[in-house]
Amino acid sequence: MPIRPLVVGNWKMNGTRAMLSEARAIDRAAQRIGAVDVALAPPYTLLHAVQAEAEQISVGAQDCSANDIGAFTGDIAASMIADVGAKFVLLGHSERRQHHGEDSALLTAKCRQALAAGLQLILCCGESAAVRDEGKEEGFVLEQLQAILPQAGEFSSSVSEVLTVAYEPVWAIGTGRTASSDDISAMHNRIRALLVTQYGQEQGEQVRILYGGSVKPENAGEILALPDVNGALVGGASLSAQSFMGIVLAATGSDAE
Ligand code: PEP
Repeated sequence: MPIRPLVVGNWKMNGTRAMLSEARAIDRAAQRIGAVDVALAPPYTLLHAVQAEAEQISVGAQDCSANDIGAFTGDIAASMIADVGAKFVLLGHSERRQHHGEDSALLTAKCRQALAAGLQLILCCGESAAVRDEGKEEGFVLEQLQAILPQAGEFSSSVSEVLTVAYEPVWAIGTGRTASSDDISAMHNRIRALLVTQYGQEQGEQVRILYGGSVKPENAGEILALPDVNGALVGGASLSAQSFMGIVLAATGSDAE
């Protein structure tokens, strides 16, 4: 079965209510394009308002707590994210791993909370420049991902409806550098093999694998046409409806430029 592409915008710690017009423009353009699933992960403070604008796009959070509701000052529970109508959560982003020391054990606990709340997961993985320079990127990424992939039995519906993987080489995030097509293809191919081993042929082949790292309208066409690249996770270029929708358009196979 062909996989419907997914393009996700990660607004990171950007956006006040002034950005709602961009969210609205993205939603309306996504309605016109139709053939691509489009999603936005705004900061928590905008989740509810972006959700209120969303007729077509899916809205999600950039993180969730590893704990259920209770005395965890400053944290946001997965069930609260679901309560505002959000559908997914990004987990394992390299900025969370780097700046908040998130390790596999913590991320596994977060995955459990998210699944219990009925949220879809976008699980991020990716190697640093140092790991790639040593030529150890493949083993590193597969191990990092394997450590947080839920067991098949933890999903209450089909794995591919709930799980998306995003490969994001750390050295490509926000730097303007992208991995080469050969490097992206090789890594996505290995991730696909891991997913098939973990979840079986039928489900493993349907899980979407996104590429992230300085994707923009100018390079999206080439990246999104690669085998086993089923969409993109976009940071900087998702902050403007114009550039983000250029990427979404590229995911349809049309020229983005
Ligand atoms: C990201 O943060 O997930 C990302 C891919 O950022 P950028 O597109 O800015 O490199």
